[in-house]
Amino acid sequence: MRRLATLAVWLLLPASAQEDLARRIHAGVLGIDTHIDTVQRVLFEGVDLSRRGDRGHVDFPRLREGGMNAPFFALWVPTYYQGAEAVRRTLEFRDAMQRVLDAHPDQIELALNAADIERITRTGRIAAMLSVEGGHQIADSLGVLRMYHRLGIRSMTLSHFRNNNWADSSTDKPVHNGLTAFGKEVVREMNRLGMIVDISHVADKTFYDALAVTTRPAIASHSSCRAISDVPRNMTDDMIRALARNGGVIGINFGEGFINPKDAEALRKAVQSIGYGEAPAAGKALDDYAARQHRRMAGEALKVAATVEDVAAHIDHVVKIAGIDHVGIGSDFDGITGPPQGLEDVSKMPSLTAALLRKGYREADVRKVLGGNFLRVIREVTR
Ligand SMILES: [Zn+2]
Repeated sequence: MRRLATLAVWLLLPASAQEDLARRIHAGVLGIDTHIDTVQRVLFEGVDLSRRGDRGHVDFPRLREGGMNAPFFALWVPTYYQGAEAVRRTLEFRDAMQRVLDAHPDQIELALNAADIERITRTGRIAAMLSVEGGHQIADSLGVLRMYHRLGIRSMTLSHFRNNNWADSSTDKPVHNGLTAFGKEVVREMNRLGMIVDISHVADKTFYDALAVTTRPAIASHSSCRAISDVPRNMTDDMIRALARNGGVIGINFGEGFINPKDAEALRKAVQSIGYGEAPAAGKALDDYAARQHRRMAGEALKVAATVEDVAAHIDHVVKIAGIDHVGIGSDFDGITGPPQGLEDVSKMPSLTAALLRKGYREADVRKVLGGNFLRVIREVTR
């Protein structure tokens, strides 16, 4: 009822006043996004994030413009990096991120917990959370996992596009029936360390296994709703409700196919082209192969059917089935080739706030979706 009243007030406002109100409310959000792939552009292309670019989706000026003050920078290593090579490559992405942090302390700082996020963003700087995208990156070693935590990494996606030795992926043929005994040990160790368990990319059974083991809220850092767009990377209503019961949050992914079913074919092609042909085993030849894959993906700019209104519809779907406390943003910017119309890069995020206001969302609701919900999980899990 209150939402209807809010909507009625909104509709009475002239367009310019609606825009002003959206901008004012957006300026007050914390701006947490649990998945961006921008470090890929740093390592492969050497981009300077302190300058506003016209390529890619994210740099510091555009983060500030979009009011997204606390993104999770994913240290993603493709699954064709195996064993020690995956660890080596993870450290190179961590190093690339360190060079960004060291070069611009006036604009960005590493955040380890909720208090850091609040302190750093209060000074007008970007609070950088770090995540590892794919359980294969620990090379089946809890020691490696613990050292990632020491390096400031505060969340890990249990799998990526292919199964690893202990977790089935949503985009591969199941071989483990979810999580193996070691996989469950990984989840328990993440709980003990204070690392967020991220269930984006995992098979449905892996998701339920992880929820049965974890004693802390989990997140889906970049997944959307399967009820609206039926792709395996999205979550069913039952999964979203289970995640809510666990106290967790789903970050809505803006990628092609995740949002509008008309784009699902593009997603299927992208999944197939993620480079699972014959990759060299190690060293420079492997890195050159990865660089070619990156250039191919970065060179593409898909036209999609999805719009900012569709993203708002996914948020609203989660709110309807699981409540306002369990949804956030996991854009996948710089990891997707076809962002929605109206959300072409991170600077456009105020238009999502406007879309939520058009649905009758109140200021307090918008603040939860654009940071408050994820801040609660970060506070409950990390130290
Ligand atoms: Zn991903």
